[in-house]
Amino acid sequence: MNRRVEPLDCLPPVAQTNPRRRTRQVAVSWGNCIAHIGGSAPVLVQSMTNTDTADAIATAIQVKQLAQAGSEIVRITVNSPEAAAEVVPIREQLDKMGVDVPLVGDFHYNGHKLLTQFPGCAQALSKYRINPGNVGRGVKGGDNFAQMIEVACRYRKPVRIGVNWGSLDQELLAKMMDENARRTDPRDARGVLREALVESAIASAQRAEELGLAGDMICLSAKVSGVQDLIAVYRELSRRCEYPLHLGLTEAGMGSKGIVASTAALSVLLQEGIGDTIRISLTPAPGESRSTEVQVAQEILQTIGLRAFTPMVIACPGCGRTTSTFFQELANDIQSWLRVQMPIWRADHPGVEAMSVAVMGCVVNGPGESKHANIGISLPGSGEAPVAPVFVDGVRTVTLKGDHIAAEFQQIVDQYVRRTYCAAALH
Ligand code: SF4
Repeated sequence: MNRRVEPLDCLPPVAQTNPRRRTRQVAVSWGNCIAHIGGSAPVLVQSMTNTDTADAIATAIQVKQLAQAGSEIVRITVNSPEAAAEVVPIREQLDKMGVDVPLVGDFHYNGHKLLTQFPGCAQALSKYRINPGNVGRGVKGGDNFAQMIEVACRYRKPVRIGVNWGSLDQELLAKMMDENARRTDPRDARGVLREALVESAIASAQRAEELGLAGDMICLSAKVSGVQDLIAVYRELSRRCEYPLHLGLTEAGMGSKGIVASTAALSVLLQEGIGDTIRISLTPAPGESRSTEVQVAQEILQTIGLRAFTPMVIACPGCGRTTSTFFQELANDIQSWLRVQMPIWRADHPGVEAMSVAVMGCVVNGPGESKHANIGISLPGSGEAPVAPVFVDGVRTVTLKGDHIAAEFQQIVDQYVRRTYCAAALH
Protein backbone atom coordinates (compact mmCIF):
# COMPACT_ATOMS: atom_id res chain seq x y z
CA MET A 1 0.00 0.00 0.00
CA ASN A 2 1.33 3.42 -0.93
CA ARG A 3 1.21 5.94 1.81
CA ARG A 4 1.78 9.59 1.21
CA VAL A 5 4.41 10.95 3.57
CA GLU A 6 4.00 14.62 4.31
CA PRO A 7 7.18 16.66 4.51
CA LEU A 8 8.00 17.73 8.05
CA ASP A 9 7.23 21.37 7.47
CA CYS A 10 3.62 20.42 6.65
CA LEU A 11 3.07 19.34 10.24
CA PRO A 12 1.10 21.85 12.23
CA PRO A 13 3.17 23.73 14.78
CA VAL A 14 2.89 22.31 18.30
CA ALA A 15 2.30 24.87 20.98
CA GLN A 16 4.62 24.23 23.89
CA THR A 17 1.89 25.26 26.24
CA ASN A 18 -1.64 26.42 25.70
CA PRO A 19 -2.60 29.84 26.95
CA ARG A 20 -3.51 29.64 30.62
CA ARG A 21 -7.18 29.71 31.40
CA ARG A 22 -8.27 33.14 32.61
CA THR A 23 -8.89 33.18 36.34
CA ARG A 24 -9.09 35.51 39.25
CA GLN A 25 -5.96 35.70 41.36
CA VAL A 26 -5.88 34.63 45.00
CA ALA A 27 -3.04 35.68 47.32
CA VAL A 28 -2.00 33.25 50.06
CA SER A 29 0.51 34.85 52.36
CA TRP A 30 2.55 34.63 55.51
CA GLY A 31 4.98 37.35 56.52
CA ASN A 32 6.84 38.50 53.45
CA CYS A 33 5.99 35.35 51.52
CA ILE A 34 3.07 35.77 49.13
CA ALA A 35 1.99 32.88 46.93
CA HIS A 36 -0.22 34.08 44.08
CA ILE A 37 -2.62 31.48 42.74
CA GLY A 38 -4.19 31.98 39.33
CA GLY A 39 -4.24 35.07 37.14
CA SER A 40 -0.85 35.50 35.50
CA ALA A 41 1.01 33.65 38.28
CA PRO A 42 2.92 30.46 37.47
CA VAL A 43 1.40 27.12 38.43
CA LEU A 44 2.38 26.53 42.06
CA VAL A 45 3.47 23.33 43.77
CA GLN A 46 1.63 22.30 46.91
CA SER A 47 2.11 19.40 49.30
CA MET A 48 0.60 18.00 52.47
CA THR A 49 2.18 16.67 55.64
CA ASN A 50 1.46 13.18 57.00
CA THR A 51 2.58 13.82 60.56
CA ASP A 52 0.16 14.10 63.48
CA THR A 53 -0.47 17.83 63.64
CA ALA A 54 -0.74 17.55 67.42
CA ASP A 55 2.98 16.71 67.31
CA ALA A 56 4.15 20.25 66.60
CA ILE A 57 7.87 19.49 66.32
CA ALA A 58 7.47 16.58 63.90
CA THR A 59 5.03 18.60 61.80
CA ALA A 60 7.22 21.72 61.71
CA ILE A 61 10.21 19.60 60.66
CA GLN A 62 8.25 17.98 57.83
CA VAL A 63 6.83 21.32 56.67
CA LYS A 64 10.39 22.64 56.54
CA GLN A 65 11.53 19.62 54.50
CA LEU A 66 8.65 20.05 52.06
CA ALA A 67 9.33 23.78 51.73
CA GLN A 68 13.04 23.16 51.17
CA ALA A 69 12.16 20.61 48.50
CA GLY A 70 10.22 23.38 46.74
CA SER A 71 6.66 23.20 48.03
CA GLU A 72 5.27 26.72 47.76
CA ILE A 73 2.25 26.07 49.97
CA VAL A 74 1.99 23.31 52.59
CA ARG A 75 -1.26 21.87 53.93
CA ILE A 76 -1.63 20.33 57.36
CA THR A 77 -4.64 18.49 58.68
CA VAL A 78 -6.47 20.20 61.53
CA ASN A 79 -8.67 17.41 62.73
CA SER A 80 -8.96 17.75 66.52
CA PRO A 81 -8.72 20.29 69.34
CA GLU A 82 -5.23 18.93 70.07
CA ALA A 83 -4.18 19.59 66.47
CA ALA A 84 -5.78 23.05 66.39
CA ALA A 85 -3.99 23.96 69.62
CA GLU A 86 -0.63 23.17 68.02
CA VAL A 87 -1.03 25.25 64.87
CA VAL A 88 0.35 28.39 66.52
CA PRO A 89 3.40 26.55 67.94
CA ILE A 90 4.01 24.99 64.50
CA ARG A 91 3.86 28.41 62.86
CA GLU A 92 6.14 29.91 65.52
CA GLN A 93 8.64 27.08 65.14
CA LEU A 94 8.69 27.57 61.37
CA ASP A 95 9.15 31.32 61.75
CA LYS A 96 12.07 30.67 64.11
CA MET A 97 13.63 28.41 61.47
CA GLY A 98 13.16 31.10 58.82
CA VAL A 99 10.55 29.06 56.93
CA ASP A 100 7.78 31.40 55.82
CA VAL A 101 5.89 28.99 53.57
CA PRO A 102 2.12 29.60 53.91
CA LEU A 103 0.25 26.91 55.86
CA VAL A 104 -3.19 25.70 54.83
CA GLY A 105 -5.48 24.05 57.37
CA ASP A 106 -7.42 21.03 56.11
CA PHE A 107 -10.81 20.85 57.83
CA HIS A 108 -13.47 18.15 57.84
CA TYR A 109 -16.54 17.61 60.08
CA ASN A 110 -15.51 19.91 62.95
CA GLY A 111 -13.79 22.81 61.16
CA HIS A 112 -16.51 25.27 62.24
CA LYS A 113 -15.85 24.44 65.88
CA LEU A 114 -12.06 24.39 65.67
CA LEU A 115 -11.80 27.66 63.76
CA THR A 116 -14.13 29.34 66.27
CA GLN A 117 -12.67 27.85 69.44
CA PHE A 118 -9.04 28.34 68.42
CA PRO A 119 -8.70 31.89 67.11
CA GLY A 120 -4.90 31.61 67.18
CA CYS A 121 -5.16 28.68 64.78
CA ALA A 122 -7.52 30.63 62.52
CA GLN A 123 -5.02 33.51 62.43
CA ALA A 124 -1.85 31.43 62.01
CA LEU A 125 -3.17 29.58 58.99
CA SER A 126 -2.87 31.31 55.62
CA LYS A 127 -5.78 29.52 53.96
CA TYR A 128 -8.55 27.12 54.92
CA ARG A 129 -9.52 24.07 52.93
CA ILE A 130 -13.23 23.39 53.35
CA ASN A 131 -14.86 20.21 52.08
CA PRO A 132 -18.56 20.97 51.56
CA GLY A 133 -19.31 17.24 51.64
CA ASN A 134 -18.09 17.02 55.23
CA VAL A 135 -19.60 20.09 56.91
CA GLY A 136 -22.78 18.34 58.02
CA ARG A 137 -26.24 17.69 56.63
CA GLY A 138 -29.17 19.99 55.85
CA VAL A 139 -29.60 23.25 57.69
CA LYS A 140 -26.90 22.34 60.20
CA GLY A 141 -24.41 21.76 57.40
CA GLY A 142 -25.29 25.15 55.90
CA ASP A 143 -24.79 26.81 59.27
CA ASN A 144 -21.44 25.08 59.81
CA PHE A 145 -20.26 26.14 56.35
CA ALA A 146 -21.41 29.72 57.02
CA GLN A 147 -19.55 29.73 60.34
CA MET A 148 -16.28 28.78 58.61
CA ILE A 149 -16.75 31.39 55.90
CA GLU A 150 -17.49 33.98 58.58
CA VAL A 151 -14.13 33.15 60.24
CA ALA A 152 -12.38 33.38 56.86
CA CYS A 153 -13.91 36.85 56.33
CA ARG A 154 -12.98 37.97 59.85
CA TYR A 155 -9.32 36.96 59.49
CA ARG A 156 -9.14 37.81 55.77
CA LYS A 157 -8.11 34.29 54.84
CA PRO A 158 -8.74 32.75 51.43
CA VAL A 159 -10.39 29.35 51.25
CA ARG A 160 -10.25 26.39 48.95
CA ILE A 161 -13.59 24.77 48.40
CA GLY A 162 -12.27 21.25 47.97
CA VAL A 163 -14.77 18.58 46.98
CA ASN A 164 -13.72 14.97 46.68
CA TRP A 165 -15.77 12.13 45.29
CA GLY A 166 -14.94 10.02 48.31
CA SER A 167 -16.81 12.51 50.46
CA LEU A 168 -19.25 14.11 48.05
CA ASP A 169 -22.33 15.84 49.46
CA GLN A 170 -24.69 12.85 49.55
CA GLU A 171 -27.86 14.95 49.71
CA LEU A 172 -26.87 16.81 46.56
CA LEU A 173 -25.93 13.58 44.79
CA ALA A 174 -29.23 11.89 45.76
CA LYS A 175 -31.20 14.91 44.55
CA MET A 176 -29.36 14.98 41.23
CA MET A 177 -29.76 11.21 40.79
CA ASP A 178 -33.53 11.58 41.35
CA GLU A 179 -33.77 14.44 38.88
CA ASN A 180 -31.77 12.45 36.36
CA ALA A 181 -34.06 9.43 36.75
CA ARG A 182 -37.07 11.61 35.88
CA ARG A 183 -35.49 12.80 32.64
CA THR A 184 -36.65 11.34 29.35
CA ASP A 185 -33.00 10.85 28.40
CA PRO A 186 -31.26 10.05 31.70
CA ARG A 187 -27.47 10.16 31.81
CA ASP A 188 -25.41 7.31 33.19
CA ALA A 189 -24.62 7.35 36.90
CA ARG A 190 -20.99 8.31 36.33
CA GLY A 191 -22.02 11.39 34.36
CA VAL A 192 -24.33 12.45 37.19
CA LEU A 193 -21.55 11.91 39.72
CA ARG A 194 -19.18 14.10 37.73
CA GLU A 195 -21.83 16.79 37.41
CA ALA A 196 -22.52 16.59 41.17
CA LEU A 197 -18.84 17.26 41.91
CA VAL A 198 -18.81 20.33 39.68
CA GLU A 199 -22.14 21.53 41.03
CA SER A 200 -21.07 21.05 44.66
CA ALA A 201 -17.84 23.02 44.15
CA ILE A 202 -19.38 25.92 42.24
CA ALA A 203 -22.54 26.19 44.35
CA SER A 204 -20.46 26.20 47.56
CA ALA A 205 -18.18 28.92 46.16
CA GLN A 206 -21.19 31.02 45.18
CA ARG A 207 -22.66 30.49 48.66
CA ALA A 208 -19.37 31.66 50.19
CA GLU A 209 -19.57 34.82 48.08
CA GLU A 210 -23.16 35.41 49.19
CA LEU A 211 -21.91 35.11 52.76
CA GLY A 212 -19.44 37.92 52.14
CA LEU A 213 -16.19 36.24 51.06
CA ALA A 214 -14.72 38.05 48.06
CA GLY A 215 -14.50 36.11 44.81
CA ASP A 216 -10.73 36.60 44.74
CA MET A 217 -10.44 34.75 48.06
CA ILE A 218 -11.73 31.45 46.69
CA CYS A 219 -10.02 28.55 44.92
CA LEU A 220 -11.71 25.33 43.88
CA SER A 221 -10.75 21.71 43.58
CA ALA A 222 -12.73 18.60 42.69
CA LYS A 223 -10.55 15.59 43.16
CA VAL A 224 -11.28 12.09 41.93
CA SER A 225 -9.06 9.02 41.58
CA GLY A 226 -9.84 8.18 37.94
CA VAL A 227 -7.82 9.92 35.23
CA GLN A 228 -10.67 10.33 32.72
CA ASP A 229 -13.05 11.49 35.46
CA LEU A 230 -10.56 14.09 36.65
CA ILE A 231 -10.03 15.47 33.15
CA ALA A 232 -13.77 15.65 32.48
CA VAL A 233 -14.57 17.29 35.81
CA TYR A 234 -11.85 19.94 35.55
CA ARG A 235 -12.68 20.78 31.94
CA GLU A 236 -16.23 21.44 33.06
CA LEU A 237 -15.15 23.43 36.12
CA SER A 238 -12.86 25.58 33.99
CA ARG A 239 -15.68 26.20 31.51
CA ARG A 240 -18.12 27.28 34.19
CA CYS A 241 -16.13 29.50 36.56
CA GLU A 242 -13.17 31.82 36.90
CA TYR A 243 -12.00 30.65 40.32
CA PRO A 244 -8.39 29.41 40.34
CA LEU A 245 -8.25 25.62 40.28
CA HIS A 246 -6.11 23.33 42.42
CA LEU A 247 -5.37 20.10 40.53
CA GLY A 248 -4.65 16.70 41.94
CA LEU A 249 -5.54 13.10 41.33
CA THR A 250 -6.70 11.98 44.74
CA GLU A 251 -5.46 8.67 46.15
CA ALA A 252 -3.04 8.36 43.22
CA GLY A 253 -1.32 5.40 44.85
CA MET A 254 2.23 4.25 45.37
CA GLY A 255 5.42 4.42 43.34
CA SER A 256 5.31 4.42 39.57
CA LYS A 257 1.55 3.83 39.44
CA GLY A 258 0.85 6.99 41.42
CA ILE A 259 3.36 9.03 39.44
CA VAL A 260 2.13 7.80 36.05
CA ALA A 261 -1.56 8.26 36.87
CA SER A 262 -0.99 11.77 38.23
CA THR A 263 1.19 12.74 35.30
CA ALA A 264 -1.29 11.39 32.75
CA ALA A 265 -4.19 13.34 34.26
CA LEU A 266 -2.44 16.57 35.10
CA SER A 267 -0.50 16.80 31.84
CA VAL A 268 -3.66 16.83 29.75
CA LEU A 269 -5.22 19.56 31.86
CA LEU A 270 -2.09 21.68 32.21
CA GLN A 271 -1.50 21.48 28.46
CA GLU A 272 -5.02 22.88 28.02
CA GLY A 273 -4.13 25.77 30.32
CA ILE A 274 -6.21 24.39 33.20
CA GLY A 275 -4.79 24.38 36.72
CA ASP A 276 -3.21 27.00 38.96
CA THR A 277 -1.72 24.85 41.70
CA ILE A 278 -0.95 21.14 41.75
CA ARG A 279 -0.39 18.46 44.34
CA ILE A 280 0.69 14.88 43.71
CA SER A 281 -1.07 12.61 46.22
CA LEU A 282 1.51 9.83 46.39
CA THR A 283 1.46 7.16 49.06
CA PRO A 284 5.08 7.06 50.25
CA ALA A 285 6.75 3.66 50.58
CA PRO A 286 7.69 2.93 54.20
CA GLY A 287 10.67 5.13 55.02
CA GLU A 288 10.36 7.15 51.79
CA SER A 289 10.62 10.92 52.10
CA ARG A 290 7.36 12.82 51.90
CA SER A 291 9.19 15.28 49.65
CA THR A 292 8.99 12.85 46.72
CA GLU A 293 5.57 14.30 45.91
CA VAL A 294 7.13 17.76 45.59
CA GLN A 295 9.85 16.49 43.27
CA VAL A 296 7.29 14.74 41.05
CA ALA A 297 5.12 17.86 40.88
CA GLN A 298 8.12 19.94 39.87
CA GLU A 299 9.19 17.41 37.25
CA ILE A 300 5.71 17.37 35.72
CA LEU A 301 5.70 21.16 35.39
CA GLN A 302 9.27 21.23 34.10
CA THR A 303 8.94 18.45 31.53
CA ILE A 304 5.79 20.08 30.15
CA GLY A 305 7.74 23.31 29.85
CA LEU A 306 5.66 25.39 32.26
CA ARG A 307 8.34 26.03 34.87
CA ALA A 308 11.97 25.21 35.56
CA PHE A 309 13.20 24.10 38.97
CA THR A 310 16.33 21.97 38.58
CA PRO A 311 18.60 21.27 35.61
CA MET A 312 17.30 18.21 33.79
CA VAL A 313 19.49 15.26 32.88
CA ILE A 314 18.79 13.68 29.52
CA ALA A 315 20.04 10.09 29.57
CA CYS A 316 19.56 7.31 27.08
CA PRO A 317 17.99 4.06 28.32
CA GLY A 318 21.03 2.01 27.33
CA CYS A 319 20.90 -1.09 25.15
CA GLY A 320 23.12 -3.89 23.90
CA ARG A 321 25.56 -1.32 22.54
CA THR A 322 26.65 -0.43 26.05
CA THR A 323 26.96 -3.27 28.47
CA SER A 324 28.61 -1.24 31.21
CA THR A 325 26.56 0.47 33.90
CA PHE A 326 28.98 3.36 34.00
CA PHE A 327 26.73 5.74 32.08
CA GLN A 328 23.76 4.86 34.30
CA GLU A 329 25.84 5.62 37.38
CA LEU A 330 27.12 8.84 35.85
CA ALA A 331 23.61 9.99 34.90
CA ASN A 332 22.37 9.20 38.40
CA ASP A 333 25.34 10.88 40.11
CA ILE A 334 25.00 13.99 37.96
CA GLN A 335 21.23 14.23 38.61
CA SER A 336 21.77 13.87 42.38
CA TRP A 337 24.64 16.34 42.36
CA LEU A 338 22.56 18.91 40.43
CA ARG A 339 19.77 18.63 43.00
CA VAL A 340 22.21 19.14 45.86
CA GLN A 341 23.80 22.12 44.11
CA MET A 342 20.52 23.90 43.36
CA PRO A 343 19.99 25.53 46.79
CA ILE A 344 23.56 26.92 46.47
CA TRP A 345 23.23 27.93 42.82
CA ARG A 346 19.72 29.37 43.00
CA ALA A 347 20.78 32.73 44.42
CA ASP A 348 24.04 33.25 42.53
CA HIS A 349 23.30 31.59 39.20
CA PRO A 350 19.81 32.62 38.04
CA GLY A 351 18.59 30.65 35.04
CA VAL A 352 20.61 27.54 35.88
CA GLU A 353 17.38 25.67 36.62
CA ALA A 354 16.65 25.61 32.87
CA MET A 355 20.00 24.03 31.99
CA SER A 356 19.97 20.60 30.32
CA VAL A 357 22.72 18.01 30.72
CA ALA A 358 22.97 14.93 28.47
CA VAL A 359 24.62 11.70 29.56
CA MET A 360 24.60 9.23 26.67
CA GLY A 361 25.71 5.64 26.34
CA CYS A 362 27.27 5.36 22.88
CA VAL A 363 28.08 7.04 19.61
CA VAL A 364 24.69 6.30 17.94
CA ASN A 365 22.75 9.12 19.59
CA GLY A 366 25.39 10.35 22.02
CA PRO A 367 26.98 13.20 20.07
CA GLY A 368 23.66 14.32 18.55
CA GLU A 369 21.76 14.42 21.85
CA SER A 370 24.74 16.02 23.60
CA LYS A 371 24.78 18.81 21.03
CA HIS A 372 21.11 19.57 21.74
CA ALA A 373 21.78 19.93 25.47
CA ASN A 374 23.59 22.82 27.11
CA ILE A 375 26.29 20.40 28.05
CA GLY A 376 26.60 16.72 27.23
CA ILE A 377 28.90 13.75 27.30
CA SER A 378 28.87 10.81 24.93
CA LEU A 379 30.34 7.80 26.68
CA PRO A 380 31.96 4.95 24.77
CA GLY A 381 29.76 1.95 23.95
CA SER A 382 31.03 -1.62 23.63
CA GLY A 383 33.83 -1.87 21.10
CA GLU A 384 34.27 1.91 20.79
CA ALA A 385 37.50 3.69 21.62
CA PRO A 386 37.47 4.38 25.39
CA VAL A 387 37.04 8.12 25.06
CA ALA A 388 34.15 10.42 25.95
CA PRO A 389 33.74 13.62 23.94
CA VAL A 390 32.10 16.53 25.78
CA PHE A 391 29.88 19.04 23.99
CA VAL A 392 29.23 22.54 25.31
CA ASP A 393 26.48 24.61 23.69
CA GLY A 394 26.56 22.32 20.69
CA VAL A 395 30.32 22.39 20.17
CA ARG A 396 32.70 19.52 20.88
CA THR A 397 35.23 20.80 23.40
CA VAL A 398 37.32 18.22 25.22
CA THR A 399 37.55 14.45 25.12
CA LEU A 400 37.75 12.71 28.48
CA LYS A 401 39.36 9.35 29.10
CA GLY A 402 40.77 7.31 31.96
CA ASP A 403 39.42 6.62 35.43
CA HIS A 404 38.24 10.11 36.36
CA ILE A 405 35.70 10.86 33.64
CA ALA A 406 32.86 11.35 36.15
CA ALA A 407 34.76 13.82 38.35
CA GLU A 408 36.13 15.73 35.37
CA PHE A 409 32.73 16.00 33.72
CA GLN A 410 31.22 17.28 36.97
CA GLN A 411 33.95 19.90 37.13
CA ILE A 412 33.20 20.97 33.54
CA VAL A 413 29.49 21.33 34.40
CA ASP A 414 30.35 23.37 37.49
CA GLN A 415 32.60 25.71 35.50
CA TYR A 416 29.91 26.05 32.81
CA VAL A 417 27.35 27.08 35.43
CA ARG A 418 29.67 29.67 36.97
CA ARG A 419 30.52 31.08 33.56
CA THR A 420 27.06 31.02 31.98
CA TYR A 421 24.58 31.76 34.76
CA CYS A 422 26.18 34.71 36.44
CA ALA A 423 23.93 37.12 38.40
CA ALA A 424 26.31 39.99 37.79
CA ALA A 425 26.11 39.45 34.04
CA LEU A 426 22.39 40.22 34.17
CA HIS A 427 22.98 43.78 35.39
S1 SF4 B 1 22.68 6.08 22.70
FE1 SF4 B 1 23.67 4.12 22.24
S2 SF4 B 1 23.64 3.01 24.19
FE2 SF4 B 1 22.15 4.65 24.39
S3 SF4 B 1 20.24 3.67 23.79
FE3 SF4 B 1 21.05 4.70 21.96
S4 SF4 B 1 22.19 3.10 20.90
FE4 SF4 B 1 21.85 2.35 22.99
